[in-house]
Amino acid sequence: MPWCDTCDVYLAPNSVDADGTCPTCHHEVDHSDKITETDNPVPWHFWIVLVALIAYLGWRLIQGVGWIAQQF
Ligand SMILES: [Zn+2]
Repeated sequence: MPWCDTCDVYLAPNSVDADGTCPTCHHEVDHSDKITETDNPVPWHFWIVLVALIAYLGWRLIQGVGWIAQQF
């Protein structure tokens, strides 16, 4: 979405002037999508999988320690 640094405002793509400038201040607008830049690049379900993996590996570690302890 076009972003005007001078006005600190997002502009609707069709509200940008034909020459690619802000209709309010007539400065160049930034056409890069700042929302994706500031967004967390890691999706939320990644953390669920990570927590589940840590819990599983932790449980297996406890099991493994118990198994080793039984051998002696
Ligand atoms: Zn502007």
